[in-house]
Amino acid sequence: MRIGVLGGGQLGLMLAEAGEPLGFSFRFLDPNPDAPAGRGRELVCAAFDDAEAIDRFADGLDVATFEFENVGPETLARLERLVPLRPGVRSLEMKHDRLVEKRFLQSCGLEVPRYAAVDSEDDLATAVATVGSSSILKTRRFGYDGKGQVRIDRLDEASLRAAWEETGRAPCLLEELVEFRRELSVVLVRGLDGKCRNWPIGENLHRGGILRRTVAPVEGVAAATEARAWAEALANGLDHVGVLALELFERTDGSLAANEFAPRVHNSGHWTIEGSQTSQFENHLRAIAGLPLGCTEAIGHAVMANLIGVCPPTARMLEVAGARIHLYGKAARPGRKLGHVTAVSADREDVLAAGVALEAVIEASTTMSAVGERS
Ligand code: AMP
Repeated sequence: MRIGVLGGGQLGLMLAEAGEPLGFSFRFLDPNPDAPAGRGRELVCAAFDDAEAIDRFADGLDVATFEFENVGPETLARLERLVPLRPGVRSLEMKHDRLVEKRFLQSCGLEVPRYAAVDSEDDLATAVATVGSSSILKTRRFGYDGKGQVRIDRLDEASLRAAWEETGRAPCLLEELVEFRRELSVVLVRGLDGKCRNWPIGENLHRGGILRRTVAPVEGVAAATEARAWAEALANGLDHVGVLALELFERTDGSLAANEFAPRVHNSGHWTIEGSQTSQFENHLRAIAGLPLGCTEAIGHAVMANLIGVCPPTARMLEVAGARIHLYGKAARPGRKLGHVTAVSADREDVLAAGVALEAVIEASTTMSAVGERS
């Protein structure tokens, strides 16, 4: 089976690594000639809105999928006419605008943080009055990994104006700043027949809006059943095929609020490569190929740490018990996800200790590289 993937980043790379042992071959579409997934594989190097390139990309594929969301509707419509696209356009359409996404989550029965649409500086003053004095202003489009977000905790006119300017005066959403105990994610896979399987819930630690670490399975989530039911309701509402990740806040009172979802394999599911019976990447491929889905049970406990902006020395990372390194082959740049490391153990305490040790190694490298840049 020949599978086409829109985007050739690390998610595409890990899809290929999971699919090649199953006999699948891959073709990627990416504007970057050095895209990680494209090395040694078929790569159509072109912009996502290049109609002629879409035709070349689709030629001879059995199924197409994507590894990131910011693909325009024209590309998707063209591609969908040429080859089965899974997940379908509906899953992506809901991700092009945070307001559309929030309303859709609500229509599927999920609770979301209080929010209001903001289209002008005047709207912002009104929105603050309804949403609350601690809030986050987010651009409706093209935001990811904390980009396009401004925290608001000062309500004077000058501060609100500065926040509005910082978003580039783009249409925004003002969201209540949720006081959460933990951030969680449910990663699930939905097959062609509509049946869902989900992996154990993971706890995510973010810094600066970027995921740093996931520990799974999380323990002691009172609303775990609801979290899984929400993810399934969302996948059914989208008629989604493949993997989907739902990011949630567990409020300090134990109740849940949905933050956002990703209609694709997700960073918070990377631990499933070593930490579960079937990885998110393999199950995504099984789903879009119409094959039986694999078991999503965990193999013990897992911690996954992202390598952001720096790659610590391999020897240092391997000193951490059970560490398995995944480097994506990308040039180092601040804030860029360059790889991740996963450690798995039967003992949760071991895994928590491995997470702390990995964090220390990553932190030391970050400090060294900052010193290097200054000197
Ligand atoms: P997002 O790009 O919306 O996923 O936001 C990135 C990160 O910013 C989240 O994982 C949270 O750590 C934080 N964040 C976003 N929205 C909120 C919110 N309404 N309340 C509290 N923290 C938030």
